[in-house]
Amino acid sequence: MYRFLPQIIHNAQVECRTNDELKKRLVFYLKSISMISDPEKRLEFVREEIDKTLESIDSSCEKGCHFCCYHPIGLAKSEMRSIKEFSPRFSQARLEQQIDFYANNIAIEYEQKKCVFLDNGQCGVYAKRPLVCRLAHVKSDPANCQLSNQSQNIEQLSVQTAAVIAVAFYQLNPEVELIPISLTQ
Ligand code: SF4
Repeated sequence: MYRFLPQIIHNAQVECRTNDELKKRLVFYLKSISMISDPEKRLEFVREEIDKTLESIDSSCEKGCHFCCYHPIGLAKSEMRSIKEFSPRFSQARLEQQIDFYANNIAIEYEQKKCVFLDNGQCGVYAKRPLVCRLAHVKSDPANCQLSNQSQNIEQLSVQTAAVIAVAFYQLNPEVELIPISLTQ
């Protein structure tokens, strides 16, 4: 399940084993999410709970910043179904390059790694963006996140309580794939 998910989700799952508060939270969300049988409603609930939990964090992420959109993003099948219903526009050229990169191990440039849904610095599926995208927050200068600028420090904000909601969701929806591969399935 964690192969295509970021470390932040993996860490939250590990923390749940020893932190009683987080463990209780995980059990609560496992129960709450599993009671919603409709996949879109289930996803909407999880999106809202994550967004609500992160409402008051002191993030230095700015509108228009999209350096985190150059990283591989994993998502559940239901997340991609929800995005597809939105009939999103995406870059076919980048899609093919990224399939070469992720599936066929062919090297590509930094520019070619940006998410296929990113258009002029804007997320084309913002309302339906994957849970992983919602969890990416830093307290350091957003410019430090640029992959071509890796000598700079990146200080991630703690989003553990929100990440636990994602842990519960992915435990119940374990088939996770990267965006470009999932888009072609
Ligand atoms: S789905 Fe949107 S927020 Fe997520 S990586 Fe792609 S462009 Fe960025």
